Amino acid sequence: MSEAIPVNQPLLDGNEKKYLNQCIESGWISSEGPFVKEFEEAFAARVGRKYGIAVCNGSAALEVAVAALGIGKGDEVILPTFTIISCAAAIARAGAIPILVDCDLFTWNMQVEKIEAKITPQTKAIMVVHIYGLPVDMNPVLELAEKYNLAIIEDAAEMHGQTYRGKPCGSFGEISTFSFYPNKHITTGEGGMLVTDSSKIAERCRSLRNLCFNPHKRFVHEELGWNFRMTNLQAALGKAQLERLDEFCDRKRQMGRRYNELLADIPGLQLPVEKTDYAENIYWVYGIVLKDEVPFDAAEAMKRLSQHKIGTRPFFCPMHEQPVFHKMGLFLGESHPISERLARRGFYIPSGLALTEEQIKRVAEVLKEVMK
Ligand SMILES: *Cc1c(COP(=O)(O)O)cnc(C)c1O
Repeated sequence: MSEAIPVNQPLLDGNEKKYLNQCIESGWISSEGPFVKEFEEAFAARVGRKYGIAVCNGSAALEVAVAALGIGKGDEVILPTFTIISCAAAIARAGAIPILVDCDLFTWNMQVEKIEAKITPQTKAIMVVHIYGLPVDMNPVLELAEKYNLAIIEDAAEMHGQTYRGKPCGSFGEISTFSFYPNKHITTGEGGMLVTDSSKIAERCRSLRNLCFNPHKRFVHEELGWNFRMTNLQAALGKAQLERLDEFCDRKRQMGRRYNELLADIPGLQLPVEKTDYAENIYWVYGIVLKDEVPFDAAEAMKRLSQHKIGTRPFFCPMHEQPVFHKMGLFLGESHPISERLARRGFYIPSGLALTEEQIKRVAEVLKEVMK
């Protein structure tokens, strides 16, 4: 029996240990330690932003982003239905209303041409989420934001190192957010970051992440914030990982191209789009969609792969099909057929940075076998 191939395994063989040792030797393990500021500055610079605010995870970054823009009760925010719950949760928790659009069958990103029809006088922002490896077509979104005076929150959690028409993902709109969960291109174990060019927004984000402590009167609060701080230990990992971002992106693209070659001849598989006129896929995860001719769905394909000890994950379950939102009276009776189809026919295969050429070949062989 061959070794199990996990769906994700990070690479931690750079300066991670060295910087972690520095934390332990110096005693700086809390968010007050020096790596936090260093990581914030280096990360913001890397995506072409003025300010970086490190937080404890990518979901927290979205909560802070929504709050920092003053989005609240009765406001509407447009976002894709095909995304992680964190996006819609941040909007709903703020008392605002998430307004959904369907995604494209091939890029898996929100259909930007569907946004304008959803804009109302209550619309305050568009939450753009880049999905799996290709960025959203930003120019039309930027034009709408300008035309209707809307803010943009860019969720770039899956896009470290990716660009849109040569400009870094994470540099668009008022605020962009990132996650450093271990399956992202760079990881801090758990962690996240907000980046922005506005000193005012940055200041608000810093305050919100730190319980809105009053800089003049400690323990007197004008507003409610959160303790979403990142520790020095996490930032130490982040600094080490960031040093290798270019190498990691090259590696991801190389893995994606390798899968493309090896899987090209297997009938019934819709593979990721290699490039569009605005970006080259970075294959955050290597997604596969079963074509109509395949007589079973993603759950069955994943079950068969797991019998060969190959790790997979299903695609996102769309927001309009989430029981939790139905209970809140949201999205009742809504239908977004492409996202529904992707949720039933899509899954992703091992795509972590530690994946070897032998493992890629093995995954391809097994896939060929189970698709028969
Ligand atoms: C991973 C991810 C998040 C959430 O990040 P966490 O650090 O896991 O909270 C948010 N948005 C997108 C698009 C993601 O992929």
